[in-house]
Amino acid sequence: MALRNILKEDDPTLRKRSREVPEINERILILLDDMKDTMREGAGVGLAAPQVGVLRRVFIASLGNDQEESELKEFIDPEIIEAEGEQEGDEGCLSVPGYVGTVKRPERIRIKYKDRQGDEKVEDFTDFDAVIVCHEFDHLEGVLYTDKAEDIREAVAGVQDEGETDI
Ligand SMILES: [Zn+2]
Repeated sequence: MALRNILKEDDPTLRKRSREVPEINERILILLDDMKDTMREGAGVGLAAPQVGVLRRVFIASLGNDQEESELKEFIDPEIIEAEGEQEGDEGCLSVPGYVGTVKRPERIRIKYKDRQGDEKVEDFTDFDAVIVCHEFDHLEGVLYTDKAEDIREAVAGVQDEGETDI
């Protein structure tokens, strides 16, 4: 288990566009494993490589629209190929600890990506899963949820309502 340092919002690395993964090699697999440990340590439901200082198009997300039956998925070189509908909900971010904000996101997205074996996949995600995937995808573009949120406010300590988990 190896934990990596999570960059905070004023770090300029978080504002850069991440680059494609040329080859899924040992370094990328170690990165994915470390990101998993780091995300769980921070009790988040998603983490993107630039948040740990690696400007590669890689993110992980705990999906399932239900915390108790969530599945951890790894996304390499993702592309959002469809988006429809709209939803609005609260988001937090491991790079912006202690705050939440309300963000508008698509209700459903279709994403193309590679898994750690390099196999290309296309999947649809809805509801909060779509929120998490869009939030992580934004990190690869150097965008933080605070750029889109209308009402950033302090998270109430000890109250972790659904949708206020750091992603
Ligand atoms: Zn985030």
